[in-house]
Amino acid sequence: MPVRSERLPLLPASPGSTRHLTVHRFGNQGARPKVYIQAALHADETPGLLVAHHLYSLLEEAERRGDIQGEVVLVPYANPIGLAQFTNGEHMGRYEQGGGGNFNRDWPDLYEPIIEAVKDRLSEDEAGNVAVIRHAMIEYLATQEARSELQSLRLALARMAADADVVLDLHCDDQALMHIYLIPANWPQAAELTADLGCRAVLLAEDSGGGSFDETFSTPWTRLAQRFPDAPIPAACLAATVELRGRADVEDATARADAQGLFHSLQRFGAVAGDPPPPPAALCEATRLDATDTVRSPVAGVIAYNVELGQEVKAGDVIAWVVDPTQPPDSARTAVTTEASGPVLTLRAQRYLRPGMVLAKVVGKEPLPSRQGGYLLED
Ligand SMILES: [Zn+2]
Repeated sequence: MPVRSERLPLLPASPGSTRHLTVHRFGNQGARPKVYIQAALHADETPGLLVAHHLYSLLEEAERRGDIQGEVVLVPYANPIGLAQFTNGEHMGRYEQGGGGNFNRDWPDLYEPIIEAVKDRLSEDEAGNVAVIRHAMIEYLATQEARSELQSLRLALARMAADADVVLDLHCDDQALMHIYLIPANWPQAAELTADLGCRAVLLAEDSGGGSFDETFSTPWTRLAQRFPDAPIPAACLAATVELRGRADVEDATARADAQGLFHSLQRFGAVAGDPPPPPAALCEATRLDATDTVRSPVAGVIAYNVELGQEVKAGDVIAWVVDPTQPPDSARTAVTTEASGPVLTLRAQRYLRPGMVLAKVVGKEPLPSRQGGYLLED
């Protein structure tokens, strides 16, 4: 079967210009498991675009062999709005310049709006409940009408992902090691995926507080299970934000290897036929996201790091000095320490910052008192 590619028009933001989403579909629509993968929702996070390019080749070959057993939906360029945003020659892809905010926050809730539709239709049949809930999510999204280009993008992506068994949202951090965000209910189900990707951190949170894309599809299941304890409701959507290292980690060799790792996972999920090699040894344990310190600078200035990516540090260690060059040298340097003990997961590429900005993330094991406010994301 040939790959089925389509272009979905977004609501035009101005007369005479229409942007499109490109979607590649592999396997048979409605076949299970359904895996949905998208790249560059944060449009200035480039590694996923190249990984999607290499993954397309692997999936196309598998399609030619007749090996796609489930359905795979690949959206290789998930944010044509952000990918077109340049200001004074610089690409700006994290926030919508039309005032819509962070592209990966405030996604529509798929829990509250479907409670009425499912409450009298749930039974003791787990598979039946999964079907009822997926149907209600799709029906709810079908009733929603987009009133802006951004809303039309969000709706188009959500409609493709809502009934998937697996949703992978490909992002990256600034300078970073490979890592992944999941809800605890998807662990250890996702253990082989994280091993295939070579994750150096697996960060778990029931609700990271930002309404991110992945949690839109994973958290309704756990919330419905709590709400209806008499009905068996599994965590039927494994949804993850995959952080493909840092912004500048964009090379064919790494992207090809990452695509191969994802492809092996698709085989393990049963979406693609074939016998993948055993997953590589895990490089980390899963830890709670509220145990990861997002180290912020209290002052503005130039960052002089005292650590490297992957370095093991202890609570109280100096991660960096922030230097104010307008001050005499003996009072110019502010030490910034971490509260966590563990590996340094991310650093900031731009070595100049304002107060309150995150300059590193350190993966600890014990929940941090300072991280109990509910909102666990960076911005
Ligand atoms: Zn991102």
